[in-house]
Amino acid sequence: MYTIDLTGKTGLVMGVANQRSLAWAIAQPLARAGATLAYSYQGDRLRPTLEELTADQDALLVPCDVTDDDELDALFAAVRERFGRLDYLVHALAFAPQETFERPFLETERDHWRLAMDISAYSLVATTRRAAPLMQDGGSVLTLSYLAAERVVPHYNLMGVAKAALEASVRYLAYDLGPQRVRVNALSAGPARTIAARSIAGFGDMYGEAGRQSMLRRNIETDEVGSFGFALLVDELSGGLTGETVYVDAGFHAIGMFIPEHHR
Ligand code: NAP
Repeated sequence: MYTIDLTGKTGLVMGVANQRSLAWAIAQPLARAGATLAYSYQGDRLRPTLEELTADQDALLVPCDVTDDDELDALFAAVRERFGRLDYLVHALAFAPQETFERPFLETERDHWRLAMDISAYSLVATTRRAAPLMQDGGSVLTLSYLAAERVVPHYNLMGVAKAALEASVRYLAYDLGPQRVRVNALSAGPARTIAARSIAGFGDMYGEAGRQSMLRRNIETDEVGSFGFALLVDELSGGLTGETVYVDAGFHAIGMFIPEHHR
């Protein structure tokens, strides 16, 4: 069997809210392979959950709201102090105000735009910029995106535009960091039932349709995001890939037309 041993490697995982979080799905195979991990969380209310989830890991837990530069600086200072270096950065967080999922995109307000872009797109730049000096032996950055970045998915609205900015940022960051052997990629996941997904109006119906209409005729499992996220991070499995957005969505993104089941 082909095994990957990440003993001695270190990673920072941002965006674990609970056991359903895509960040947690990616953290688990990293930890199982022997990597030592730090986790950042937004606000004290999430700390007990993280403590419970990571009870069997020697994990560093640090609060960080990505809109706050001081908290970002403190997070990376804590990572530097504990690990002295960094191999992997998992950026799995996003936010847009509830109203933006409920009202037409046409009604997007400036404050909402700023906030969604800041948390969902700029935070990748802010974190990668701070991670890069710690990636002295090369490294790998992974963010999470969604099809609404390049197609209209009803209700995603501002979040779709923020994901488009995120995917473009992946390419520019990958270009800047290529000479340093730091790879930057996005995993575009099919719908998964997480806390963040709950804020999207009509998510339940869309989840069902994505499952029925995808090539595999099912929804993805979060473990599938975890294992492929792992592959995108680890040089042994994806060393030649950077600046890319890769889909783990049961083939949904590549279908050009949906037809009724009885005509398939
Ligand atoms: P999740 O478990 O709710 O994770 C989202 C995380 O973002 C939470 O930990 C949340 O913390 C954090 N966050 C929000 N604002 C933040 C801020 N200002 N500073 C720091 N952290 C902040 O949901 P998820 O679905 O796993 O989301 C992870 C990523 O996957 C997101 O980028 C999402 O867009 C993407 N994605 C999700 C799906 C899906 O269907 N679930 C599909 C494709 C892509 P709080 O809980 O404290 O707000």
